[in-house]
Amino acid sequence: MIKADFHVHTNFCDGKNTPEEMVQAAISLGMTSLGFSVHSYTEFDQSYCIKKEKVAAYIEEINRLKEKYSSKIRILCGIERDLYAETPEGCFDYTIGSLHYVKKNGVYYTVDESADRLRKAIDEAWQGSAVDFAKDYFAEASRLGETSPDIIGHLDLITKFDEIEPIFDITNPAYVAAAKKAVDALLPLGVPFEINTGAISRGYRKTPYPAPFLLAYILEKGGKVILSGDVHAASGLLCHFEEAEALARSLGAEAFETL
Ligand SMILES: [Zn+2]
Ligand SMILES: [Zn+2]
Repeated sequence: MIKADFHVHTNFCDGKNTPEEMVQAAISLGMTSLGFSVHSYTEFDQSYCIKKEKVAAYIEEINRLKEKYSSKIRILCGIERDLYAETPEGCFDYTIGSLHYVKKNGVYYTVDESADRLRKAIDEAWQGSAVDFAKDYFAEASRLGETSPDIIGHLDLITKFDEIEPIFDITNPAYVAAAKKAVDALLPLGVPFEINTGAISRGYRKTPYPAPFLLAYILEKGGKVILSGDVHAASGLLCHFEEAEALARSLGAEAFETL
């Protein structure tokens, strides 16, 4: 079983626990590696990301923990960089490239805050067409190479609420084509795509991102994959990794990347 996770949030952004609490929980679970991935600073939405003036303290704290717990666990200091975020200052061990918005007519529409907000965005700027929204989302996700990622984050985050309140028809050929096109654009980067269990831990979904058809496509095209918890609390560490790994193997995954 995989006992490493490189997608971990703390109270430096929108997570509940301190980095040290996360480290202690990871050690008690017997984890081999823990990578912190603070949300990069986005000026247009400061509700969930690190404050600009806290970046240096974040790096310092993770580096302190790296040393303190070096005999027990490998710790990495990373960042989850949104496509629309400012270029982060400071030295990070790795970057997760993610997209949490679609920018249209100068407005950043958040995709993962609530189903209600997502629907309103689609009505307001996409004339109620969820598939047109999805096309724009995946077209923007195709640009995630611009974040210089080591990992591609939750590729179809827009489906976060679909199991509770369906918004997208992921069998619509136009949806499928748009999503696959994003995969095609990102494959040459040679970095792994996440199999992300974060929405399962938080009660929104029963299956990880990306959708099975998309994961199967990534694997068929020779894409690499990595298991990620997108953890926002110590209680979420390694949650649903076993079933996500089994699902990925059933779709053809043979190996899981690590950093
Ligand atoms: Zn994210
Ligand atoms: Zn995240």
